This record gives sequence, C-alpha cells and structure tokens, in this order.
Amino acid sequence: MMRFTKRIPLSTPTMHGEEMQFVQEAFDKNWIAPLGFNCDGFEKEMSEYLAGDKEQHCLALCSGTAAIHLAIKLAGVKQGDTVFCSDTTFAATVNPVSYEGAKQVFIDSEYETWNMDPVALEKAFQKYPDTKVVALAHLYGSPAKMDEILAVCEKHGAIVVEDAAEALSATYKGRQCGTFGKYNIVSFNGNKIITSSGGGMLITEEKAARDKALFWATQAREQAPHYQHEEIGYNYRMSNVVAGIGRGQLLHLDEHRAAKEKIYKRYKDGLKDLPVTMNPFAAESTPNFWLSCMLIDEGVDVSPMDVIKRLEEANVEARPIWKPMHMQPVFKDNDFISVGDKSVGEDIFNRGLCLPSDIKMTAEEQNAVIEIIKSCF
Ligand SMILES: *Cc1c(COP(=O)(O)O)cnc(C)c1O
Repeated sequence: MMRFTKRIPLSTPTMHGEEMQFVQEAFDKNWIAPLGFNCDGFEKEMSEYLAGDKEQHCLALCSGTAAIHLAIKLAGVKQGDTVFCSDTTFAATVNPVSYEGAKQVFIDSEYETWNMDPVALEKAFQKYPDTKVVALAHLYGSPAKMDEILAVCEKHGAIVVEDAAEALSATYKGRQCGTFGKYNIVSFNGNKIITSSGGGMLITEEKAARDKALFWATQAREQAPHYQHEEIGYNYRMSNVVAGIGRGQLLHLDEHRAAKEKIYKRYKDGLKDLPVTMNPFAAESTPNFWLSCMLIDEGVDVSPMDVIKRLEEANVEARPIWKPMHMQPVFKDNDFISVGDKSVGEDIFNRGLCLPSDIKMTAEEQNAVIEIIKSCF
C-alpha cells in the first residue's frame, strides 16, 4: 500500500513573507511588549475586512477562547444563569460559560449545515424561558441558519454570542460571519484559516463594549496613578509580535479561502461515486471551507475510524468530527435539547470525519488521498 514519505496534515499554518516583515518591524522598534502598532493595525484591518453596513470594533486578544470569555461577560452572563450553546463544536465555545459560573444547555444540530437547529432552540426557550444568551458556533466554516436563529432569539429577547473561530471569511447572505451576534469572536490558532501562531479577536458594533473588554483584558486597571482595581481583570491581550504575524496573514485570507474551496470541490468530485456526502452548507451562504468533512451514508458497513486508520497508515492525518458536548463526561449533568428522539449531532459524529484540508497539499497528493479513501469502501 502506498505511504506518503511526507505527512499530509489536517491543516497547518501557511506563511507568505509579509508576516516576517511586520514582526521584523516590531523587533526593529524594540516594540515586543503587548499592545503597540501591530495590534492597532491588525484590529483596524480586521474591522475593514469585516465591515458591512455597520462599523465593527475589534479587540485583539491572546486566544479565541479569551475572546469568547469576554463576550460571555459582555453578554451579562452570571452565576446560576442558563446559556444555550451549540452542542457539536469545540469545547472552547462553551467552557467560558462555566468560567462565569453559569450552566450550558446544549442545543442539537440540524442536517443542512450541521449547526445549531433553530427548531431545537425554540424548544429550549419553551423549557427555559428566562434564558438570555445563546452561544453559537459555525462548524468547519459553514454558516449556521442565521435568519432563523436570530428570529428565535429576537422573539425571546436573547443575545447571540457568535463563535466564528472556524468561519472567518465565510458569509451568509453576503454578510461576514463574526458580525451577526451582539458579541462575536474569531480565532487565529495554528490550524485556523489564518493564524497569528495563537490569538483571537472580539468583534462588536458597540465601541463601549469593545472598550470594556479592553479594560478587563488588561487587568481591570482603573485610571489612577497607583494600581487601582474595582473589578476582577485578566491578562488577555495579544502581543505586538503575534499581531504582526496576523497582519501578514490577513493579506492572504481570501487566497486561503479560495484554496480551501478548491480542496473541498476536489473531494466532492473525487468521492462522488462513494456512499458518502460532504459537509453541507445552505444555499444562501458561502462557507470558507476551513475543513472538508465527509459523512458516510447510513447503513454502510464502513466506520469513520476505519477510514481514519487507513489514512494514518498512509501517513495522512484525518480526525473524527467534534464529539458533541452533551456526550462529554465533563457535561454529563447538563441538559440537551433536540427535536426528535435521536441526536443529530451524535449521528454526524458516528458517521463523519474531517479530511486533510491543508492548503499546501498538492492536487496530486489530494488525488492520492482520495484513492486511499475509495479503497476503504
Ligand atoms: C479553535 C476554536 C476555538 C478556540 O480558539 P483558540 O484561539 O484556540 O482559543 C473556539 N471555538 C471554536 C469553534 C474553535 O474551532
């Protein structure tokens, strides 16, 4: 059986050169400390990238998780509150709810986008009518059904915290993901569509909210000649060096998106004769195709782990779909709301896998990966 001598990874950083120029400038000016011109520039350039009808205020932070934490705080989540959360997502979407002493209620996915099901969300409001915050993620760069979800939230007077960590540059009806909620975030972690080596950004239309988050992110220092504290703060800011990498990457975001789309289409075409489908997206949205995923048809006697193991033998990285939060031991006491008797997220987890989606993978390499997948069926 063929085996790649060089590993084919799931998704790794792709650098271009401008990143180093921004970093070099930080070194040349001895501006290594947090904050500084690269942070300011990165925030401004991200604001420009995301801007639609409304201005977006951005705050560069040390991780996407830190950004979610501050978004959850801005949304007013307090001890004992209930927060409706995407069930199938990375744990970082939902962990900050626990940091604030609140409790997640997980909302099942739907099959059309694999994201939070607006029907299940409505059902959750019937059971927990006092809930005021919904934390939603766009899985693998495919936008959720935002019109329906926003309508449910508006009806119940709830705020959306949008986790667009995987969805930067994806659009829904022409609007950028990361601009739909009241408080939104993206991530620049190493495997995301662009990376700063690690980092995140809080995004909001409210300048005052951005400034409040900045205050919390810089140790909640009150204005005084001495260190004066009236609230608990955090050390969450992005460093000026890291922001330089992010600025360089942002110049190549659309190029990365186009390369990811090509990968998705090549899989879709190459796997079309197998009993599988690709991760879906709604007609009104344009995903960023961050990760290409595949769902094995029901009743087929091939499991995701069979395919993952075969790929691993060939030195190719593939992974299971995010394991739903309601199946995680740490959340065993949390409620889970789904429309029917069976969990959609659990079904997708049982039948799906993430395929290598690194944009440095050549067409020849990807075709070889496709042949290996075919040999599993
Ligand atoms: C990566 C990711 C995060 C966390 O971002 P970090 O920058 O790694 O803290 C949060 N939510 C989702 C859905 C992610 O994929």
